[in-house]
Amino acid sequence: MGQIIACANQKGGVGKTTTVVNLATYLGRLGERVLVVDLDPQGNATSGFGVDRALLAATFFDVALGDATLESVVVETVADNCWLAPASLSLAGAEVDLATMDQRERRLSVVLGDARNRYDYILLDCPPSLGLLTVNALTASDSVLIPTQCEYYALEGLSQLIATLNLIRDNLNPGLAIKGVVLTMYDARTNLSADVATEVRKHLGDAVFETVIPRSVRLSEAPSFGLPVALYRGDSRGAVAYAELAAELRGRDNRLVGEPAGRSEPLTATIEPRAVDTGVRTPIAIGGPT
Ligand code: ADP
Ligand code: MG
Repeated sequence: MGQIIACANQKGGVGKTTTVVNLATYLGRLGERVLVVDLDPQGNATSGFGVDRALLAATFFDVALGDATLESVVVETVADNCWLAPASLSLAGAEVDLATMDQRERRLSVVLGDARNRYDYILLDCPPSLGLLTVNALTASDSVLIPTQCEYYALEGLSQLIATLNLIRDNLNPGLAIKGVVLTMYDARTNLSADVATEVRKHLGDAVFETVIPRSVRLSEAPSFGLPVALYRGDSRGAVAYAELAAELRGRDNRLVGEPAGRSEPLTATIEPRAVDTGVRTPIAIGGPT
């Protein structure tokens, strides 16, 4: 039976879509059957797989509203073993339309129904907000994968997200686990990347993947060719890192939300920036009692 993983972070530009597209591609290469569901009205995962949104008769919007079946909108992608439920801008209206529906947080859960039986992994690419689409994704998922950019406010963003995950677990999806935090856009030349990585690991322990995704121009170029990096520059550092992430993810258990390092006390963190001094020194809390 397949697992459903939401790739979420309320911040935009942290590498959610890049992670979904490339992780899916490498999981496919390992022989897993993967379905990517593009939940972002921007449709970046859709175009990142080379699917032309203008040619789509129906998208995930129609599925979310009950007007089409999931399988009727699923298309093949350029990557082996990877299928896509595409998005278009019309998905933006889904937030509004969903708001008035019965069981509005569980629409996606219902829609994905027995898709688990047909795929080994279902990866949900969430929009950069904690709106109804993301809530639907987290409610439908077994676990959440959290790309985190190695930048100064990373821990603050994470604590906010973990608080939301706790709310979802308490109210909508008691089984929701953390698959892991992925450090993205790591720049080995800056102290800041190293400091952020150290702090995130200190506070979230083994909830953080060992694999770190480097900042790589090849990763940012690939989508403009409509290709996952594996098919664009498979020998680049970014490609190698996503291949490693896929292998690591396959061997990983799900961890419970809110117990990142197996502690019950709220965790606090202060990052002392060396490379960039923002002047902020306030301790922030991660996880802890809800
Ligand atoms: P999100 O889905 O969280 O908004 P994206 O995956 O779209 O983030 O990434 C934001 C931008 O950063 C995109 O232009 C993407 O190509 C680029 N990008 C993502 N990961 C990397 C990386 N490791 N190195 C360089 N650029 C990256
Ligand atoms: Mg995105």
